[in-house]
Amino acid sequence: MAVTSPAPSIAIIGGGPAGLMAAEVLSQAGLAVAVYDAMPSVGRKFLLAGVGGMNITHAEPTPAFIGRYAEQAGWVGDWLAAFGADALRAWIHGLGIDTFVGSSGRVFPTDMKAAPLLRAWLKRLRDQGVVIHTRHRWLGWASDGGLLIEHGTSQAVIHPAATVLALGGGSWPRLGSDGIWLPWLAARGVALAELQPANCGFEVQAWSPLIKERFAGAPLKNIAMYLAGASPRAGECVITEGGVEGSLVYALSAQIREAINRDGHCALLLDLLPARSLAQVEAALSKPRGSRSMARHLQGQLRLDGVKAALLRELTDAQAYQAPASLARAIKALPLTLVRPRPLAEAISSAGGVCRAALDEGLMLQAVPGVFCAGEMLDWEAPTGGYLLTACFASGRRAAEGVLRYLGRA
Ligand SMILES: Cc1cc2nc3c(=O)[nH]c(=O)nc-3n(C[C@H](O)[C@H](O)[C@H](O)COP(=O)(O)OP(=O)(O)OC[C@H]3O[C@@H](n4cnc5c(N)ncnc54)[C@H](O)[C@@H]3O)c2cc1C
Repeated sequence: MAVTSPAPSIAIIGGGPAGLMAAEVLSQAGLAVAVYDAMPSVGRKFLLAGVGGMNITHAEPTPAFIGRYAEQAGWVGDWLAAFGADALRAWIHGLGIDTFVGSSGRVFPTDMKAAPLLRAWLKRLRDQGVVIHTRHRWLGWASDGGLLIEHGTSQAVIHPAATVLALGGGSWPRLGSDGIWLPWLAARGVALAELQPANCGFEVQAWSPLIKERFAGAPLKNIAMYLAGASPRAGECVITEGGVEGSLVYALSAQIREAINRDGHCALLLDLLPARSLAQVEAALSKPRGSRSMARHLQGQLRLDGVKAALLRELTDAQAYQAPASLARAIKALPLTLVRPRPLAEAISSAGGVCRAALDEGLMLQAVPGVFCAGEMLDWEAPTGGYLLTACFASGRRAAEGVLRYLGRA
């Protein structure tokens, strides 16, 4: 009589998109999968991402898509070659959720929400035999090499055949991903890059009381932003009490953060009227203004008023403000000095984490055979636009495929 040995047991630590995707692939392959998550429910950050409209991926052509991962485009692009935007959309459709492409190319579930998708997915995972243990916190490795798991007041050590760590990055720690695992991996000889805020707001040294009190929260629309020497990027941002935030700032956040790390500050340039050339702006300002103030002249000639006019006044010296040529230059390249990012806990995502060099092709830690990593805890970053979730899903699959190869099941 044939004796069947039990399926190897796999522990997935972290029930975010990366961990759940790994659980899906491994359970489909017939392995016994248990997900452990420290929080009372899984997918909390995924659900939060759905609050303002779940932008799950992007419809732009693959080379541009992959370029969003900048220095790590080669690494992440490799995962996306196996499970990119189109595959992700097909997968979502397979859960009974339709998607649509917005005017900017961003892809959303039709109802814009994350909860129905997560609900359908968790049901399918449970039907496939995945066991989800919530309020189970991984505390690192026990002295015998097992995983130390805390649940309430008790602790247990488990010895799975393979482990996938999908612990998230360091932003919004109250949703579960708190980055406290870094020293545990460092102690095992894993190369790590410090977690830093990404897709975050930045602070100026100090706004004047006028900007702070009258314009904090004001959107700055139809502008462009750039670092010296780079092409301007059009979009919008928001003035905050201490600086700036919003989509345009997030898109440049990696470069801004690097400049601050390198120089102690970042000289960002704002183009307040990107639709007009410098010559057009100067020509408009050179028209006679009679007894009108410069503020009225700006409003009359260029419709520049409100928060834009206030910023121009704030960031231009008195002499330059009075002369059409220098004022036109300021309107097209208004220097805004940013001195620090907002704290990691407030950021949409984090940069840093487990370095590529610490992992093999299947995302297994070279220093800890049998332990794989996936998701935002890996050292890549991307702007908002669906690129974060897409890479998390794709890396979850890549790690699961790595597990299957490691166990000789591929
Ligand atoms: C406000 C906001 C909006 C966002 N909007 C978008 C968007 O529209 N599009 C997009 O692409 N991305 C968006 N993101 C980013 C996206 O949500 C994350 O990149 C993604 O959730 C990361 O997935 P992950 O699986 O790597 O980690 P997470 O989703 O962070 O999941 C990690 C899990 O691990 C668990 N965990 C951590 N440590 C332990 C431990 N020691 N023991 C047990 N469990 C542990 C946590 O409880 C958590 O459930 C947004 C993020 C935020 C904060």
